[in-house]
Amino acid sequence: MKYSCFFILVVAALQSCLLAVNGCPNIVSRSEWGARSPSGSKFMSTPVDYFVVHHTAGASCSDISSCSSVMRGIQNYHMDSNGWWDIGYNFLIGGDGNVYEGRGWDTTGAHAGVAEYNTNSIGVSMMGEFSSSMPTQAALQALDDFVTCAITMGKLVPDVYAVLGHQDVKSTSCPGTLFYLDHVQQMTNYNGPSLEECIQ
Ligand SMILES: [Zn+2]
Repeated sequence: MKYSCFFILVVAALQSCLLAVNGCPNIVSRSEWGARSPSGSKFMSTPVDYFVVHHTAGASCSDISSCSSVMRGIQNYHMDSNGWWDIGYNFLIGGDGNVYEGRGWDTTGAHAGVAEYNTNSIGVSMMGEFSSSMPTQAALQALDDFVTCAITMGKLVPDVYAVLGHQDVKSTSCPGTLFYLDHVQQMTNYNGPSLEECIQ
C-alpha cells in the first residue's frame, strides 16, 4: 500500500514536471474536433518570427463539444465560401481554455491577409467576438501559455520573437478593441507600433 502511494506520487510529480517544462496547454487535435482533410497545403519553415493574435468575431464556446462544432463551422466557411485549402488559422483557442489545432505548426496559414506574415507567423484566433468583452480567464491563460509552448517546441524564435495583434499588420478591427488593448498589448514581447508611431 505504501509503495503504491509512493508510485502514484512519483507519477503525479513527473506529469506536472513535464507539463511545466513543455509549457503547453491542452491541444485538441484535428481528428478530435472532426476536421475535414485540407484540399492543399504549403510547408512553413520554423521557427518563425511572429505570433499573430486574432479573434474569430463569431460564436464563443465553453466546452469541447461546442468548440468543436464552432471549429467545423469555421473550417466549412473558410473552405467552401472563401475557397481556402483549410481553416485559415494555425491554432484557435476556445472559451474552455483548450487550444484547437487548425493548420498546425508547420503549415503556412491564411489569416494575416499579408503574405510575409502568413509565411512567418503562428496565427492564433480566440473563438468569439472581443471588441467590447474579454475572452474567459481560461482562454487568456491558454493564449499566454501557448506562446511559451511555441518557443519550447522550437516553432517560435526565442527572445526576439514579436507578438502582434492582427490590426498591427493590416487594417482591421481584429482581434477586437477591448481584448487588443487590455491583453494583447500587455503580452510579453508585444511589438506593435508604438503610440508615437501611431500619432505621426
Ligand atoms: Zn484577424
